Amino acid sequence: MNENDMDASTMAQMARAADTGAERPVKPALWLGWRKRCPQCGTGHMMQSYLKVRDHCPVCNEELSHHRADDGPAYLTILVVGHLMVPFFHFGFTIFRPEPMVLFSVLAILSVALGLYLLPRFKGLMVGVQWAKRMHGFAPDRELARQDM
Ligand SMILES: [Zn+2]
Repeated sequence: MNENDMDASTMAQMARAADTGAERPVKPALWLGWRKRCPQCGTGHMMQSYLKVRDHCPVCNEELSHHRADDGPAYLTILVVGHLMVPFFHFGFTIFRPEPMVLFSVLAILSVALGLYLLPRFKGLMVGVQWAKRMHGFAPDRELARQDM
């Protein structure tokens, strides 16, 4: 049986069985998180709703409830949207000289749309980082980790 014959669930099970507790590759986990996919199998949808992360991946059953994204996604979203909107505001005003309400309306719509687009992707990205770096409960054996302390 080669890799092409197996489904994502089987490959994820094999990856879990061979899990040594070593750090996982961060870049693929970041990309899968950005696409709101399970960082383990890459096919299961990570999100249950707009921002709610599933407890388990529906394809490979990887536990995702360990994530602690907290305010991180909102912070990153504000950081990016804010830094993009300031030059838009500056150049939009100096080049086009629109009516204030037109400028406000365009920037408000752009800010909200960009924020809504980025927020779940940054959340997936943060879950991917935590999964790859084995932060919080993503470590393979939590009991052993506690005994070492
Ligand atoms: Zn999965």
